[in-house]
Amino acid sequence: MNVTDLILKKRDGSALAEAEITSLIEGYTAGRIPDYQIAAFCMAVFHRGMSADETLCLTRAMLHSGSVLDFSSLAGAKLDKHSTGGVGDKTSLVIAPLVAAAGAYVPMISGRGLGFSGGTLDKLESIPGFDVNLPLERFRDVLEKVGCAMIGQTDEIAPADRKLYALRDVTATVESIPLICASIMSKKLAEGLDGLVLDVKTGAGAFMPTLEQASDLAQSLVDIGNGLGTQTTALITDMNQPLGKAVGNALEVEEAIETLKGSGPQDLTVLCEKLSSRMLSLVPSAEPGDARARIAEALGSGRALEKFAHMVKAQGGNPRVIDDPKLLPQANLREVIRSSAEGFVTGVNAKTLGWASMALGAGRQTVESRIDPSVGILLNKKIGDRVEKNEPLCTVHYNQAARFGPVRQPLNDAFVIASDRVEPPSLIKRLVE
Ligand code: URA
Repeated sequence: MNVTDLILKKRDGSALAEAEITSLIEGYTAGRIPDYQIAAFCMAVFHRGMSADETLCLTRAMLHSGSVLDFSSLAGAKLDKHSTGGVGDKTSLVIAPLVAAAGAYVPMISGRGLGFSGGTLDKLESIPGFDVNLPLERFRDVLEKVGCAMIGQTDEIAPADRKLYALRDVTATVESIPLICASIMSKKLAEGLDGLVLDVKTGAGAFMPTLEQASDLAQSLVDIGNGLGTQTTALITDMNQPLGKAVGNALEVEEAIETLKGSGPQDLTVLCEKLSSRMLSLVPSAEPGDARARIAEALGSGRALEKFAHMVKAQGGNPRVIDDPKLLPQANLREVIRSSAEGFVTGVNAKTLGWASMALGAGRQTVESRIDPSVGILLNKKIGDRVEKNEPLCTVHYNQAARFGPVRQPLNDAFVIASDRVEPPSLIKRLVE
């Protein structure tokens, strides 16, 4: 097949056949097709889009560019959750042990922080010793023994996505729904899952700010999952303000542990329970009780916290952080941002908080940047809260004064104070099946 003809076909708005898409992905993965031709192809897709069939074929080709894990010998449902990324979103750290404690297996392969949104791997690595780079045999071992395991993408999983994502990143072709869907789903479906729940974020701090954009993305992701044989649903959830109260790696781990102990922030706890029970309800189960009751029991009994401790230990981390969070990296300096007015908080700009946390060192400015796991922001107020003049809005944890200066005013401005109270935004906007 002539690659130039395929680029031309897509550029002029025609749909590609499965064999054509497969040959492009196979040729690119094997190094036979150069970056510049695939870059042109991605730009053609960016402008012309892809039909549902084409997107499915693209995902299938990317999925089979590497290994597809097979956990069928483990008796029990294999389930996962994927979030499109947000600020303060530490749900994976709670959900993996919670769903495992309720009787399913959670083989979770996660990513690192991207721009202003945090990444699960960076959070996990703030636990001293925790290894997110287990070889696949060790991953399977931990999964079998504990019920959940959390690692980063390996060279064996969807190698086509690894190459394509790096190329899209530098060719202004990231924000294309078919390319995003194929990228996310090729990695997730390689986990050999029976069921997948997608947490598609919407709002000021999300990749897809409007409910309509988020719904389109969610529907396309769900159709691919179901089309390729994995029971898939999506919840569209709020990302106008950060989730929970902690933003920053070690601070978020501490909050996830509090949530597993039953004393986490309400929004985070509710979202973890909802996503977890949806995961369980995707597949029939021999376990007694409905999904919600099983999740409530797993959390309330402390078994989810025990699972978390087992996983941390099995992956080389120090499980004593659970009883003594001060063993997590701690920043040397603290500064409180205070309100200059009295009233009610009507907005907390998640994107500003995400960027500020990144600027303090919690995220990467470039691919090579080293993360400071100890820094971040703890929110004292959220939307709907009453605030007095000079009351703390948030507390900044940092290590370098030069990094704090530039974030002080933006953080102050991120909190909108008005005289009339507003209700906190509803957490779950829509269910997409
Ligand atoms: N996350 C992914 O894994 N891929 C994308 O294309 C966008 C977000």
